[in-house]
Amino acid sequence: MKTVVLVGSGYSHLYCLNQLQKERHPDTNWVLISNSKYQYNSDMSAGYIEGIYAVEECRVDLEQLCQRSKASLVEGTILSIDPHQQVILTDQGHIQSYDIISFNIGSKNTLDFVDGLKYKSEVIKPHHLFPEKFDVLREGENPVIIGDSIEGIEIGLSILAWKKKHQKAEPNVTFIHSASLEEAGSKTSRKISSFAQKKGLQWIFSKVRSVGETFVYTEDDQEIPFSHLIDLGEPSAPKLFKSSPLKVDDKGFLLTHPTLQSVSKENVFGVGSCSSIMKHPDTSRNEGNGVKQGPFLWENIHHLIEGKTLTSYKPGIHNLSIMSAGDKEGFLTYGKYSSYGKWQWKLKNFFNRRLIAKYN
Ligand SMILES: Cc1cc2nc3c(=O)[nH]c(=O)nc-3n(C[C@H](O)[C@H](O)[C@H](O)COP(=O)(O)OP(=O)(O)OC[C@H]3O[C@@H](n4cnc5c(N)ncnc54)[C@H](O)[C@@H]3O)c2cc1C
Repeated sequence: MKTVVLVGSGYSHLYCLNQLQKERHPDTNWVLISNSKYQYNSDMSAGYIEGIYAVEECRVDLEQLCQRSKASLVEGTILSIDPHQQVILTDQGHIQSYDIISFNIGSKNTLDFVDGLKYKSEVIKPHHLFPEKFDVLREGENPVIIGDSIEGIEIGLSILAWKKKHQKAEPNVTFIHSASLEEAGSKTSRKISSFAQKKGLQWIFSKVRSVGETFVYTEDDQEIPFSHLIDLGEPSAPKLFKSSPLKVDDKGFLLTHPTLQSVSKENVFGVGSCSSIMKHPDTSRNEGNGVKQGPFLWENIHHLIEGKTLTSYKPGIHNLSIMSAGDKEGFLTYGKYSSYGKWQWKLKNFFNRRLIAKYN
């Protein structure tokens, strides 16, 4: 009997758990280790902040999914892995042995690139923290979001939309960024910046120098007051891999072959945003890979068990991405194409609800 351990309940692992209900290798025993009983869909966080979704509508119930999949659920955060002994340790003191292990634990927020940021920034990852954090954040007098990412704008616009609906005072929400938005080209970035400002998002293009008790200080000497601060800039790697003998890339993400296997150990897989594929360092952690890698992971775990050749995953260059723009409007991008309006939000809503329904 082979024990297959899935660490973290990102999209690819949800896919495997769902597949287990349809087909099952007779000699396998599956275990999911997750730091929460629920997996929250971060794509729905903007809709949650705005008050469109209830918390139950944004999450997958892992206890029920594991029950249907005949997998064991162990609640805990993995602290360390010993790939030679083939064991992992959780923060609850649980020691789990494995024959094959896969990591789908997402990324963290980078909080140490600016003085004072780590003491003041709200921690919204892991995702299970987001409902309680966002409840507080949206009520703040002047929340400030830092980051060169679409997610930052999405969160800013959704807080703005919530405030317009629920608070009498003129809303004051600020987005600060210092580089062009990583996922979008320059033309698309300009379009996003233009409609976001029309909606009332305070838009500051400047580099943050430091963070004080209640002010953000920028390199061009602006002092921006904040009640709450969120950093949604460059993602950082979970610490777990760096402190293990497994090879990591220069940023600390688990380094894998295109087969999604660790370059150090063939029985360790890494998927989603916690890993980096050696041949595709620029695209392997793009959004959308977590979902697309699920079928490859499922197949390759079975090929490894059966001694067959494993299949390589090649990340796509373009992903369809829809940003929630507040007021049930969406901004869709695919490569250089972009469009903005109501149907774009409806499409995003359809995809997200379908994803949650599939696993609940
Ligand atoms: C606010 C926000 C909005 C976003 N909106 C979008 C969007 O609209 N579209 C889009 O494509 N992407 C969006 N993203 C990005 C998206 O969330 C990530 O790209 C995606 O979640 C990565 O998925 P994943 O499968 O790698 O893992 P995740 O979805 O991050 O899941 C990993 C899971 O593992 C758990 N975990 C972490 N560490 C451990 C540990 N040590 N032990 C056990 N369990 C652990 C985590 O709690 C989490 O449940 C958004 C992100 C944020 C923060």
